[in-house]
Amino acid sequence: MATETTAPTDPAPEPPEGVTETPPVPPPMTEESAAAEAARYPQPVVDVPALTALLDGRYAEVRNLVRTNLVEYASILEEAESLDRAAFRERVKEVVLEMAATGQTGMGFPQEYGGGGDVGASFAAFETLAFGDLSVLVKVGVQFGLFGGAVLQLGTKRHHDAYLRDLVTGKLMGCFAMTETGHGSNVQALGTVATYDAEAGEFVITTTEPEANKDYIGNAAAHAELAVVFAQLEVAGERHGVHAFVVPIRRDGAPAAGVRIEDDGLKMGLNGVDNGKLWFDGVRVPREALLNRFADVSEDGTYSSGIENPNRRFFTMLGTLVQGRVCVGGGGINASKVALAIAVRYALRRRQFEATSEDEEELLLDYGQHQRRLFPLLAQTYALHFAQEVVAGQCHQVFSGEVSDEKARRELESRAAGTKALGTWHATRTIQECREACGGAGYLAENRFAALKADTDVFTTFEGDNTVLLQLVAKGLLTDYAGEFEEMDQLGMVRFVAGLAVETVVERTSVHKLLERVRDLLPGGDQWDQEAGVLDSDYQLAMLRFREEHILAGVARRLKRGIDSGMNPGEVFSRVQDHVIHAARAHVERLVLEAFVDKVRAMPDDDNKVALGLLCDLHALSLIEADRAWFMEHGRLTVVRSKEISRRIGSLCRRIRPLARDLVDGFGVPDAMLRAPDLVG
Ligand SMILES: Cc1cc2nc3c(=O)[nH]c(=O)nc-3n(C[C@H](O)[C@H](O)[C@H](O)COP(=O)(O)OP(=O)(O)OC[C@H]3O[C@@H](n4cnc5c(N)ncnc54)[C@H](O)[C@@H]3O)c2cc1C
Repeated sequence: MATETTAPTDPAPEPPEGVTETPPVPPPMTEESAAAEAARYPQPVVDVPALTALLDGRYAEVRNLVRTNLVEYASILEEAESLDRAAFRERVKEVVLEMAATGQTGMGFPQEYGGGGDVGASFAAFETLAFGDLSVLVKVGVQFGLFGGAVLQLGTKRHHDAYLRDLVTGKLMGCFAMTETGHGSNVQALGTVATYDAEAGEFVITTTEPEANKDYIGNAAAHAELAVVFAQLEVAGERHGVHAFVVPIRRDGAPAAGVRIEDDGLKMGLNGVDNGKLWFDGVRVPREALLNRFADVSEDGTYSSGIENPNRRFFTMLGTLVQGRVCVGGGGINASKVALAIAVRYALRRRQFEATSEDEEELLLDYGQHQRRLFPLLAQTYALHFAQEVVAGQCHQVFSGEVSDEKARRELESRAAGTKALGTWHATRTIQECREACGGAGYLAENRFAALKADTDVFTTFEGDNTVLLQLVAKGLLTDYAGEFEEMDQLGMVRFVAGLAVETVVERTSVHKLLERVRDLLPGGDQWDQEAGVLDSDYQLAMLRFREEHILAGVARRLKRGIDSGMNPGEVFSRVQDHVIHAARAHVERLVLEAFVDKVRAMPDDDNKVALGLLCDLHALSLIEADRAWFMEHGRLTVVRSKEISRRIGSLCRRIRPLARDLVDGFGVPDAMLRAPDLVG
């Protein structure tokens, strides 16, 4: 982050693309002593409260309310281990309802129904809740995000009037029944059918085939009275695609007539949430049970919708549910903060082996490898935090009507998908690394890693499987978020990409144009990637942008070649899928870095800016280092520069070392949520 901008000189110029490089002799690498380094770069002094205020942003008050509630119910962390499953579920429900009474879980609902009327605040509240027990978090997500969100976004006034007030207090518990045993990611292929009976003015909900039962549904096994059921709508023998219906599934604790409920049983984690399966055997609900914001059926059985194209209608409906995805991404990122806070604090207490002194063993955090393991993850957590802030802000704007254009909405959906995927994969990786960094102590349940690992694992799968989500991101990129994309099925999309859009993508991302754009960012002319300093954030961003567009162009060219050779479009797409995922990941990584760079640039010139600048540089260089094979293969990184980057990472880690405690304290995770008294002191 331009904390030091002197350009290191490379002895050998980069050979052009495609030319085999003879490795030049690297210059001697001098390892500076920590003292010499510290003298060369004055160390910033972190203002921790100011850092927390920066991270908390405009919703500091909301986040503090949640922190207070978490501390009040801190015993839930132990109860997760001591209570049996049934009792723990009841305890989680109790805590959720008590927290709901403080207003923290209803921030996103309209004020007229007892909510807070602020979508952005609901993200802040949810993210902060991830510092605590994650069954509580997920139950809140199911009740207020999934169930409540579906009623609010897909329903109309009659549904809002009937359900929202009790839903917001938790008096009315519900579930979101979309997934089936037979179909999870492919929602359009669901097997549950809702047939309109015009004579009775009712819909008849039926599980039509063995695997069409609903599955994994949170709140279904024990607590939900109502379900928002996603089913294929059939009117007068004609199918109109997936629509959502409010269906009573339980009365006075017993399954409603025609509904069969089974418990999903013990899970890897999140055992305070009652996930279950649902079957419907001709369950009748009134015509008004259809959540009819986007389509309706009149009494006489006439189907109508303001959105003609069934695919577009389907994607529009799903698009309104994007808030859940934003929440889960933020939850994953905040769970990573808990793991890092514990691991860093432990590494500042724990000593192993005499290394630099004969009298005293070395602190774990003074080992270079320990820094290398934890600090890039710390830097990435900060990066993702700021990226999450951007996506949550955009989501707030779209859902509060501040921004209404269609392209912005599609870009938001793509960004939410990408941030969720990277944020939750990051959680899985970070929690594992932090567990290992705490050695055997990390394995004890009391020290939180058991729950953190088990409970966050599935974040990569629910609210959209990460791999499937990244394909969605790539499709947005390939079609430049074209409106027509929503109207196409999978095969149509491939044809579209391979036919029309490919020319545009190839043109847009041609190496010539890429270099031109990068040159606008950097003053170094054709040698931009050699002349700029590796700590120049414009250089770092240019590298990531170059990679993203180059990969995207490669995908487009491969799709076109496949189609031109007459291959089945689905087969073509499948063959380039790894390339597609790489393109999406490269895109999202660039967005994440951009969010971090923008944030740091906007800070006042103080020590916190210097500290975050170090983290930002570390994050950027770690990304380049992780994909250095690609950059070298594509002639954008010499051996010398690659080594320079690795050396800089080491030196940044050493500079971050004295700041590490403050940087994790800045997250503002309440001590009671860290538990682990022997680890964190
Ligand atoms: C604890 C838990 C709670 C849940 N809560 C709810 C809930 O409340 N309500 C609800 O409706 N659902 C819920 N779900 C379901 C969840 O949303 C689905 O599990 C998820 O969407 C994935 O679907 P699936 O399990 O069918 O996996 P699949 O879609 O079968 O995917 C399996 C694997 O195949 C890969 N894959 C799939 N398609 C492709 C493709 N086109 N190309 C390449 N790879 C592919 C995926 O990446 C994945 O690795 C929950 C699930 C769990 C585990």
